[in-house]
Amino acid sequence: MTDAERSQILEQRLDMVRERIAAACARSGRRAEDVTLIAVSKTVSPRVAGLSAKLGQLDLGESRPQELWRKAEALKALPIRWHMIGHLQRNKVERTLASVQVIHSVDSLRLLEEIAEQGSRQSLRPRLLLQVNASRENQKYGFELDEVADLFPKVQSLPVEITGLMTMAALSSDPDVARTAFRALRQIFDDANREGAQLTQLSMGMSGDFEIAIEEGATMVRVGSTLFEGLEAE
Ligand SMILES: *Cc1c(COP(=O)(O)O)cnc(C)c1O
Repeated sequence: MTDAERSQILEQRLDMVRERIAAACARSGRRAEDVTLIAVSKTVSPRVAGLSAKLGQLDLGESRPQELWRKAEALKALPIRWHMIGHLQRNKVERTLASVQVIHSVDSLRLLEEIAEQGSRQSLRPRLLLQVNASRENQKYGFELDEVADLFPKVQSLPVEITGLMTMAALSSDPDVARTAFRALRQIFDDANREGAQLTQLSMGMSGDFEIAIEEGATMVRVGSTLFEGLEAE
């Protein structure tokens, strides 16, 4: 497959995903421009990620810090907004902060404190989402739903901008499983805002469930395989 062919396939898939986002917004009385599509490029080479950016899809997500650094370096000529969406070890914070627009996957207080410290060293005010374990399934990373309310008073003085919450629904063929998790995240988002937090972003929904997530209030959807399947060649 040539890059021209890859680009054509990607363009069609981006159009299709954007149409599905618009339709989900219409169904739920929301505006399509209130939902940001993040193309998760973790399975493809920097070159293919770059094709996506050249098609105007500038929000790209990566789940491994080293891979994010590698792609950000290779594609630094393009105005890409990189989103860190996977587990971030504390010893990788320093280098990640320099390349990233938003970290979606702040999953512990220790990580949050490390980001705050490195951020002030680099004179940055990092934009962060707290990752929440909103499904009943025992997930490896993320705050528990009932931890979030207590967290905000503790972190208010840190020099970071916590703009929202992120979750991943459990894999299931039953769409109600995802809907229940998304609704639970929306609930604690609303609760936190009622208590004075100023959250605007809900990062939820992937290839299999992004329309449900939009119906439940997602402002950022993270779509990988639907866009990049079959385009992985280095
Ligand atoms: C890989 C990944 C995605 C995208 O998943 P797809 O099912 O391929 O769309 C979204 N969010 C996170 C955190 C991921 O790791």
